[in-house]
Amino acid sequence: MKRSGLCAGIFLLSIGLSVSKTVGAQGMGADADTIVQLSESVFRRGATSNIFIVTDEGIIVVDGTCDGGGQEWLKAELDRRYDVPVKYVILSHDHEMHICGLQAFDDTAVTVAHVNAVEHIVGENRDTSMPDVVFDEYMEILLGGKKVVLYYFGPTHSDNLIQVHFPEEGILVATDMVRSGKAIGLPDYRDSNVDNLINALGELSRLDNVEIVVPGHAGLANQQSFVYFRDWLVALRSRVLTEMRAGASIEDIVERVRMEDFSDYGNYENWLRANVISMWDYLYRWREPSENLGEYQNAYPVGFPIGGTQMGPE
Ligand SMILES: [Zn+2]
Repeated sequence: MKRSGLCAGIFLLSIGLSVSKTVGAQGMGADADTIVQLSESVFRRGATSNIFIVTDEGIIVVDGTCDGGGQEWLKAELDRRYDVPVKYVILSHDHEMHICGLQAFDDTAVTVAHVNAVEHIVGENRDTSMPDVVFDEYMEILLGGKKVVLYYFGPTHSDNLIQVHFPEEGILVATDMVRSGKAIGLPDYRDSNVDNLINALGELSRLDNVEIVVPGHAGLANQQSFVYFRDWLVALRSRVLTEMRAGASIEDIVERVRMEDFSDYGNYENWLRANVISMWDYLYRWREPSENLGEYQNAYPVGFPIGGTQMGPE
């Protein structure tokens, strides 16, 4: 850190505002090479979950990006701005688009992830930093008088997704748990535990000390967005399950479950179909076998062709 004490806050504030070249009416930077200041000590790179907090004793980086040298750019930018090294790197979950390139900080940083992330990172050969420290339910990192809290609410969007909270800054990084405003939070439910995702969204909507929610993609959010996404999931799950219990095929369900009362949600047009199909897939696996269910499975076995699903990556 080039300054200390009260001056540090003022110094950082002035830097953050001066480089926020794309901050405009929406208060967001969409440019990957833009750093936006979110609070006294927390900054966001572009419209991503690539966050960092600056303290007197070092920097903590959350998530990376698969954008061709983005983390090398960030490393050079941090070196230019601050006199302290990156001490910790935190992986929100193993999905590669959110953790690419973080090995750039291996020379100075300890990498932290959920214990379940390791198998995926190794097995899928993720382009990232291998975790040095893993945890299960809860972890705190204290550095330079700042506190970072890591929560695991069980399997949600993946079996290793964690929430990264800077309580004193009022900032929660909730990668892939939500989108800005009133919106569907995910394109589909591959790798997801939908029932526990619903539970976790409720807990996140009630977490204390959250002023700003940082999604993994696009604009900033607040806790109301967890409620919106939870409402969508509860309704979608119920409607798809009702159709399945009535014996409807996936093709009929795609036709019937239109969710039109949610048509004002962001991503409605693009993600409705894959949301319905992957919810069907989740419930198909979740339902307890019975005599009637056996008939359903005979009529619509796993692998039943369901056409072009256009499930996008997440
Ligand atoms: Zn993801």
